[in-house]
Amino acid sequence: MNARLDGVVLNRAVFGAIFFLVMGLTVQPVTAQDFDAVEIEATDLGGGIHMLTGQGGNIGVSVGSDGVVLIDDQFAPLSKKILAAVARISPGNVRFVLNTHWHGDHTGGNENLGLGGAVIVAHDNVRERMSVEQFMAAFGRRVPASPKAALPIVTFDQSMTLHFNGGEIHVFHVDPAHTDGDSIVHFRSANVIHMGDTYFNGMYPFIDTSSDGTLNGLIDAAGRVLDIANDETKIIPGHGRLSNRAELEAYRDMLVAVRDQISKAMAAGSDVEQVVAAKPTAAFDAAWGGGFMKPDDFVRIAFATLER
Ligand SMILES: [Zn+2]
Repeated sequence: MNARLDGVVLNRAVFGAIFFLVMGLTVQPVTAQDFDAVEIEATDLGGGIHMLTGQGGNIGVSVGSDGVVLIDDQFAPLSKKILAAVARISPGNVRFVLNTHWHGDHTGGNENLGLGGAVIVAHDNVRERMSVEQFMAAFGRRVPASPKAALPIVTFDQSMTLHFNGGEIHVFHVDPAHTDGDSIVHFRSANVIHMGDTYFNGMYPFIDTSSDGTLNGLIDAAGRVLDIANDETKIIPGHGRLSNRAELEAYRDMLVAVRDQISKAMAAGSDVEQVVAAKPTAAFDAAWGGGFMKPDDFVRIAFATLER
C-alpha cells in the first residue's frame, strides 16, 4: 500500500517535471531530486533494437558489432543513467545520436553525448532552431540557444540511411507536423519505427505552432508510417507506451475525426471559443484526454493550425 502511494506521489512529481521540461520551460526549476528518482528502463524489441524510458521522450537504441546508435537522449542530468542502461545491453560506444526534433526533452543529452564523441544527426531545421533562442507561444516561454557541442553536426533535408549493425536505419523527414524538423526513424530489418513526437500514444498530441507544427501534418505523418508498417511492426511513440500499427491507426482516425469536426464548425463560421464549447473531442476524451494536453487546449491549438 505504501509503495503504491509512493508511486502515485512520484508519478505526480515526475509528471509535473515532464510538463515543464517538455515545454523547455525555465521558470519552474527542476530539482536534482526529480532526476534522482528517475529510473531508465529498457525493453528489448528484437533485432538489436531496444527502447529506453525514463523522463522525457522515449529513446530508441540500436546495438551491435558497429556500436550504438541512440534515437533522442532525454535530459542532460540523465545522460549517465542512460549510458549505464545502454552499457547493460551492450559494451559498444555511442557513435551516433539521431534527434527526432529539437525539443529539450529529446535533445537535452546532446551536449554530454557530443562531447563524449557521438556524432549528432538531425533534420536541417533542428540545427537551425537549436542554434538560436526559441519562443514557444503556447506557453509564453523562451528557450535559450543550445551550446555548440549540442548541435547536430550532420543534417539532412529529406532522408538519409545509416548502414549500421548489419541493417539499415532509414531516417525520413515529414512535412511540418509536431514541428518543422520532425524525423521518423525506420529500423528496416528489425521492423521497428520510432516516430518522435508525431505520435503521442494514448494522449492528445502537443503541436508546436511556434515551430510551424500543424494538425494536418500529424495526420499525414501517421499515414506515412501506416503505409510502411505491418501487423508485426513495433512502433515507439515520442511519449507513451510502446505501440503498434492498430493503435497508430486509431490515433490517426481520432485526429481525422477531430480535424473534420473543427473544420466543419469553422466553415460554418464558428470562432475558436465556440468550437471549444462544442466539445469536438467529446467522443475521444475518455481514451485520449488524460495526458498533459487537456481536450480544450488541444482543440485551441488544432483550430489555430487549421486557421493558418
Ligand atoms: Zn516535442
